[in-house]
Amino acid sequence: MKTIGFVGLGLIGGSIAKSIRRVHPDWRLFAYNRSKESLAAALGEGIIDVVLEENDPRFSECDLIFLCAPVEVNLSHLKSLGSRIKPGAIMTDVGSVKGSIHEAARSLGLDHVFIGGHPMAGSERSGYAFSSDRLLENAYYILTPGGEVPVSAISDLTEIVSSIGAIPMVLTCQEHDFITAGVSHLPHLIASCLVNLVKQLDTEPYYMKMIAAGGFRDITRIASSSPEMWQQICLENRENISQVLDAYIRMLVQVRCQIDDRNQGYIYDLFESSREYRNSIDVRTSGPISKVYTIYVDLADEAGGIASIATVLATEGISIKNIGIIHNREYEQGVLKIEFYDPDSMAKGHALLTKRNYITYQG
Ligand code: NAD
Repeated sequence: MKTIGFVGLGLIGGSIAKSIRRVHPDWRLFAYNRSKESLAAALGEGIIDVVLEENDPRFSECDLIFLCAPVEVNLSHLKSLGSRIKPGAIMTDVGSVKGSIHEAARSLGLDHVFIGGHPMAGSERSGYAFSSDRLLENAYYILTPGGEVPVSAISDLTEIVSSIGAIPMVLTCQEHDFITAGVSHLPHLIASCLVNLVKQLDTEPYYMKMIAAGGFRDITRIASSSPEMWQQICLENRENISQVLDAYIRMLVQVRCQIDDRNQGYIYDLFESSREYRNSIDVRTSGPISKVYTIYVDLADEAGGIASIATVLATEGISIKNIGIIHNREYEQGVLKIEFYDPDSMAKGHALLTKRNYITYQG
């Protein structure tokens, strides 16, 4: 039996706590969070056993402490709790950039007790209310152990991560920050720049916005992410982001020259090589960019059609993230697109609408 402490019990902290409670019902879970509502809810649901105060002496009873608050709060708790944890205990965090917290751990002399962590799962929603004991299932969970952490502690944390259904992967913090710069941070920047470019180019009567099609919407979905979180990530991982941005800019300049030169072979190879590599990516696991769960429905053009579908779903308690008619269906089947928050809601919604004789397609 282990005792686990949490600082921050929001979307990620709450999801880890719920997952641990599901698979290790006898473990003791302690938590401190700034907002008392989430602590009361977690206590009431039996997810945590004890509510702690900030810097509570009972943190020193924990075998493992998860820092799941915003990055600067994690840094201050690493400092305040680090010197008081019990011998053999480990601290870990869940932040999206690992270099800065490892630097802090080293300068505080905590390199032997700190293992950085980054669960590659999330959602656009935040807070304990949206946490789930399945959020981390099949998601990579990167661990970046400090240089002096004993192997046995790394194995323990790896086992806990596996036990909650995530896929542990041990990397150095430098590897983590470079890899996520390429597959997560750069795509977010590209999506935001592309949206802003279209915003600049589009003039009245705003036809670009009106007909923005499936492809445009797909690659810019992540431009709706939290500005605070992405500002922080860009500032914290700026060296790696600059490096991959430079490589990307060089590639764009080259593409532009080849198009100007009408280099047919180059242009064909560009799309062929990207298609081949894209199709080889394993879609069964969650990556760093949160997934969408979408179905499409054929809908006759009748008054109240959307409202009927929304009502059918609502009466079964299925939450809809987004619902709307697709006027440009270049790459999609179905007239109505419905986005759900999680795979369970999507599956239930799909089954329910099919039972009601709607023609539906999974996204
Ligand atoms: P969240 O807002 O859902 O949760 C943060 C929690 O921290 C909230 O419950 C809040 O009340 C609490 N908190 C804020 N300030 C505090 C303080 N001073 N003391 C104690 N508690 C405090 O956010 P989240 O999405 O769970 O993100 C938490 C961490 O997870 C961040 O470091 C983020 O980088 C990382 N992360 C987020 C995602 C994602 O997609 N949301 C994915 C991976 C990692």
